[in-house]
Amino acid sequence: MTNQSTQILDGDAESGINLAIQNLRDNLLIGLPTETVYGLAALASSRLAIAKIFKVKERPTNHPLILHLASYADLDKWTVNVPDYARTLCNAIWPGPLTVILQRSKNVCDEITGFRETVAVRVPNHRVALKLLNSLNDGLVAPSANRFGKVSPTTAQHVVDDLGSDVSLVLDGGVCSVGVESTILDCTLSTPQILRYGAVTTEQIKSICEIDIDLSTGESRASGMLEKHYAPKCRVELAETSDQAQTILNSLIENGLTARVLDYSSDVIFYAQELYASLRRADSLNIDVVVAVMPPNYGLGVAIRDRLTKASTATH
Ligand code: AMP
Ligand code: MG
Repeated sequence: MTNQSTQILDGDAESGINLAIQNLRDNLLIGLPTETVYGLAALASSRLAIAKIFKVKERPTNHPLILHLASYADLDKWTVNVPDYARTLCNAIWPGPLTVILQRSKNVCDEITGFRETVAVRVPNHRVALKLLNSLNDGLVAPSANRFGKVSPTTAQHVVDDLGSDVSLVLDGGVCSVGVESTILDCTLSTPQILRYGAVTTEQIKSICEIDIDLSTGESRASGMLEKHYAPKCRVELAETSDQAQTILNSLIENGLTARVLDYSSDVIFYAQELYASLRRADSLNIDVVVAVMPPNYGLGVAIRDRLTKASTATH
């Protein structure tokens, strides 16, 4: 639903940042650009605003929020008992698309973590988010600015399209440079586990800190572990090659359906940037089926395959 009354403000202008600070301090929610996707942001100290996030997103409270920090130097304010390898990783990658789960300090309120003793933290690599965070002397919790289970926003307009007046304003920071959500690494276990794939790859993590990494197991602890997520209105069918996609497309069209092929598999960086915008475009054109060509199962391709697979398992 579009609500043109919600303002999109230039995130690089001082006036936009100042109004965002004022709104956050008034317990309102704002749309925040990050390098991954746009976030629905609230002050980490505002229990009232955090409760609004769950309501607006229609998000179950057992899906705790990622806490965004201004810099690595803030880590010890919000976490305790940080393993050395996690320090090495965060120091090397932040600001960047890596979220780590650590034991929380007393500064983290229960509403952020859903009463867990752990907290998910990261430093976003976006000039507007960092400018804001550096002006706050607080953290920002910011899940993706869409309703739970749907496609994430990668432009300011997507946020307004999805949430309308449920956000007080959106800071415009351009198109997200990464385009898929952060990698989540659980660092509270003896062997760390990847809970969600993102632009920071398993190979990169291993090369920085020479640790073993487990694939996620056990009950779902992150939205990235749900089977269905990132779902557009259209059906998504998967193909391993461009030829296979063409065959599927032809048969869909023969059956009277409107369909499009999504294939940037030769350029995974561009694929990630365009993925959600392409699915949104298909929905706005009332396309019945998007046939997505899967990228190679390596590096950033792993994250794209994960999102496409989950989008394809949504029922309609
Ligand atoms: P997002 O869904 O993009 O907001 O990413 C946040 C994900 O990180 C959620 O799916 C959470 O389940 C997961 N998460 C956040 N905090 C924790 C935590 N303390 N322990 C385990 N998972 C967490
Ligand atoms: Mg999300």
